[in-house]
Amino acid sequence: MEKRNQLYAGKAKSVFTTDDPDRLVIVFRNDTSAFDGQKVEQLDRKGMVNNKFNAFIMEKLEAAGIPTHFERLLGDDEALVKRLEMIPVECVVRNVAAGSICRRLGVQEGLELDPPTFELFLKNDALHDPMINEYHIRSFGWARPEEVDTMKALTFKVNDILKELFAGAGMILVDYKLEFGVFNGQVVLGDEFSPDGCRIWDSETREKLDKDRFRQDLGNVIESYELVGRRLGIRFD
Ligand code: C5P
Repeated sequence: MEKRNQLYAGKAKSVFTTDDPDRLVIVFRNDTSAFDGQKVEQLDRKGMVNNKFNAFIMEKLEAAGIPTHFERLLGDDEALVKRLEMIPVECVVRNVAAGSICRRLGVQEGLELDPPTFELFLKNDALHDPMINEYHIRSFGWARPEEVDTMKALTFKVNDILKELFAGAGMILVDYKLEFGVFNGQVVLGDEFSPDGCRIWDSETREKLDKDRFRQDLGNVIESYELVGRRLGIRFD
């Protein structure tokens, strides 16, 4: 497999074509951003930590029956993935209220959500990723109704798998964001799963161990990502 041209550079990852039209290389960079790219910093080791974290989670999910784009690690900060036709929608599940739902609905951070709630956002930085519903997706043709049903079912299945995985390691999976795409007609999990795109709290102390440390200037951002990973059994050396 040969890495070729840069196809796209996002806020934290760059994507390259390969000699296989159905495969891409993702490079996890040290860039860390929040608030639609208004706050940006380089954090040492972040690309490597998120790449290995993502690989571990994607392999767990694949083994539990979730189709993912992940193929294999290529190096410290690179992975080989399937080339998906991305659906421009973010799927969020919340087990505990935190972040935007507290601001939007005036609920207290830490409120347990039973059942967990599900939200959809349009992936569009210029519009600040507005919240949308399933009818917007249908009316604007961003995905087919059966694809939306599959994204929702897979997002909840991921919750069953990962809530238990984190709980077993002394952590609460507060919320997370997933993105999907289509590969050979099948809806497949794409993008990444890392502490950049989820909230994780220590079960005992409720200490924040995810990107909120960066957003809220709490310090020890990557140290916390590594702590979460090590508790799950990931090796970063
Ligand atoms: O900001 P909000 O509370 O809506 O985020 C919910 C979850 O989705 C958080 O874990 C956040 O890190 C993640 N998210 C993301 N990328 C976005 C928006 C939210 O990873 N563009």
